[in-house]
Amino acid sequence: MAQLSDDCFAGAERLITTSEALDILAARISPVADEESVPLREAIGRILAEDVTSSVNVPPHDNSAVDGYAVFFDDLADDGPSALPVAGRAAAGQPIELNVRRGEAVRIFTGAPMPEGLDTVLMQEDCAEEDSRVTIPPGIKRGANRRAAGEDVTAGQVVLTRGTRLRPQEIGLAAAVGRTALKVYQRVSAAVFSTGDEVEEPGGELPPGKIYDSNRFTIITALERLGCAVDDLGILPDRPEEIASAIRAAAETHDVLLTSGGMSVGEEDHVGQAVSANGALHFWRLAIKPGRPVSLGQIQVGDRSAAFVGLPGNPAAAIVTFVLIGRPLILRLGGAAEIAPIVYRVPADFDYRKKKDRREFVRARLEVGLDGIRRAKKHGASGAGILSSLVGADGLVALPEDMTQLDAGSLVEFLPFSEVLA
Ligand code: AMP
Ligand code: MG
Repeated sequence: MAQLSDDCFAGAERLITTSEALDILAARISPVADEESVPLREAIGRILAEDVTSSVNVPPHDNSAVDGYAVFFDDLADDGPSALPVAGRAAAGQPIELNVRRGEAVRIFTGAPMPEGLDTVLMQEDCAEEDSRVTIPPGIKRGANRRAAGEDVTAGQVVLTRGTRLRPQEIGLAAAVGRTALKVYQRVSAAVFSTGDEVEEPGGELPPGKIYDSNRFTIITALERLGCAVDDLGILPDRPEEIASAIRAAAETHDVLLTSGGMSVGEEDHVGQAVSANGALHFWRLAIKPGRPVSLGQIQVGDRSAAFVGLPGNPAAAIVTFVLIGRPLILRLGGAAEIAPIVYRVPADFDYRKKKDRREFVRARLEVGLDGIRRAKKHGASGAGILSSLVGADGLVALPEDMTQLDAGSLVEFLPFSEVLA
């Protein structure tokens, strides 16, 4: 009698886990990107291809953290107010040319260099100035409101490291140490195809039996957010020769190809075959739900090779697997040091039964309870083809392979879309 395949075994072939898939990815895929220098503003979202060492101290000089009066701490009485003559004025951006004597105070403003010898600054709100004398209350600490040269960055310090994805704060820090441009990796060039005789370009009237293409649009925009240069290569029919020649042509001019659909085990699923025949599949099928028929491979044309990710056709599965495999692949190709997203642990607000030996991803919203704590609440219908329930979802609850029952209140892994699709 023929053995029915269960959810995790296809014949004798064990489905691999997501963590095994990521290990294969790390072993098989290496960064492709060449380097280029770009002005700071264009460096946002790019991956740094150099270590940035500061040649300067930030701040460059000791300076005041507030508007007020700079004094010698030892001139202050500790049992009552002190009244000191105001000997001069130090404003931000002005050269310091004050020669302050002991017993004198200086009117000072935020960011102004500390006049030589003065060590402590009183906030103007705490002082009273009259007839060029300032009255200072007791109780200030030595060194208060004074910022030391180099307390942010010291000259010679490595402030940014190769492989960092640049956010506004990294760009700002590069400017703070005087840089106007940064060396970054070139954008990963990606080609995106949909496959399927039923898949139709949105816009026209939908013929019977057809469905509008959504995957190409989610995948292309997700890739653009990751900083890729993306080419939309349209929809391929379910014909092996056309699929093979299209992916070969794309592999000659791109670093990575992403397809959706045609990766299952049906007779009309020709993508996997086309990839194996023109390169290799490193893995095919993961122990996950949704998104089992996802694959990672490589297409070889002459001495050029392009990475390949075959995403499932079902639109929700395509997004989940893009997040799990596509995103780390792109980051790895692009030279990023960190390719894993930050996953949070939050209490679940739902019960759930699942099959053992596969990882399940449940669409969820984070809802704030009366106690102020955010909990993951299951959101919308859960089919692999249900795209609408990803809209309005905040992320995915990832339930581990060995779990069979989730009880509300227990802590679960939560992967926010703001982390992986923003
Ligand atoms: P497949 O993986 O080719 O077997 O497709 C699985 C399901 O996803 C089928 O119902 C397809 O019609 C649907 N599908 C495949 N590609 C797309 C696409 N680009 N946009 C929307 N639905 C798709
Ligand atoms: Mg298909």
